[in-house]
Amino acid sequence: MKNIMFIAPPAAGKGTQAELVVDKYHIPHISTGDILRDISKEDSEIGHYVFETLSSGKLVKDEITYQLIEERLKNSDCRNGFIIDGFPRTLNQAIEYDKILANLGYSIGNVIYININEKTLEKRITGRRICEDCKTIYNINDPNNAPQIESICDNCGGKLYQRNDDNLASFQTRYKMYQEKTEPILNHYREMNVLHEVNGEDTVENVFNEIDKIISE
Ligand SMILES: [Zn+2]
Repeated sequence: MKNIMFIAPPAAGKGTQAELVVDKYHIPHISTGDILRDISKEDSEIGHYVFETLSSGKLVKDEITYQLIEERLKNSDCRNGFIIDGFPRTLNQAIEYDKILANLGYSIGNVIYININEKTLEKRITGRRICEDCKTIYNINDPNNAPQIESICDNCGGKLYQRNDDNLASFQTRYKMYQEKTEPILNHYREMNVLHEVNGEDTVENVFNEIDKIISE
């Protein structure tokens, strides 16, 4: 099993696809968000630093993130492949990540780019509704996933709500950041011949089938 990295714009379904891969292949899902949250609970110098940084809404220094990722990847459960999630987000981080892998004797593996149109993402974001009670997720802009009545859950009759950050302005900010910071990573891995592109416009199931083909090769 090769290591897997996903690169995708916000709301492209990266998290869902990562879970599907984990369910099928039982490899660890290395999420930098989880690593940071875990370390922030530790009573140590680095734990306190991460706790304070996250609490104040700032970004953890890259050097600290690199160190934590390297430590996590050293664990024996990563020797037979893993998914890295939420990292790298910039070209500099990608270059540093390559070095970490080389240090540990790991290969980059497959970098999977979920390619999806900005307008599709806008529709997904602005149409997303969540049930207050059973947490079922709907999309009023997607006929295959819309509730019968726009504000009521089909499953349990609960009220549907929209998350605060599921709005156009917030999406556009995140998308712009992705274009500026993350997109340059694509060329980096394309030049290394490890980049695979999948069509993110398709259904969750079909996107997963495409991904599965790549990683089972
Ligand atoms: Zn419900």
